[in-house]
Amino acid sequence: MELDLDLITGTTVHYYVTCKREAWLYAHKIAADQEDENILMGKALAQIKEDNLLDFFGCLKIDKVTKHKGHYLIIEYKKSLKNPKGAKMQLLFYIYLLKKGLKLRSINGKVVSGKKVLYVEGSEENMQKMEKLLKQMQHFLAAPKPPKPKKIPFCKKCGYRNYCY
Ligand code: SF4
Repeated sequence: MELDLDLITGTTVHYYVTCKREAWLYAHKIAADQEDENILMGKALAQIKEDNLLDFFGCLKIDKVTKHKGHYLIIEYKKSLKNPKGAKMQLLFYIYLLKKGLKLRSINGKVVSGKKVLYVEGSEENMQKMEKLLKQMQHFLAAPKPPKPKKIPFCKKCGYRNYCY
């Protein structure tokens, strides 16, 4: 099956590895609680960052790209790193798009949140891992209904709480 990335964004990838139901609701444009304080904070930070973001392909926004000895490094700044796995997979998705779209040979990334830094390698192994994840997501997001809610620690700060509990 040809990979169709229409429903998939960095945020969807982040949500998918956190809570599949959240990813489905987000991808299907179900509006989260706009008064939720985490959503308001996210919007405010996005607004502040807007001028500094680099825009690729009209949809992929990255905070910074540097080049050192022929290697590209993309950097994403986050206000918190409560979900390192989600942050890493989101960045790996951006690396995947850049590597494929711009046919770059070497690109790695890092997520920075205060003093915490996570490195993400754009290795062939990671590209294959992302391709596998995207295929699973494509199949999952095409389902007519989301899976049932399952309580996890992230529910407390999720903007879809009202849809679930
Ligand atoms: S409230 Fe919990 S189960 Fe519902 S979408 Fe959010 S994280 Fe998932």
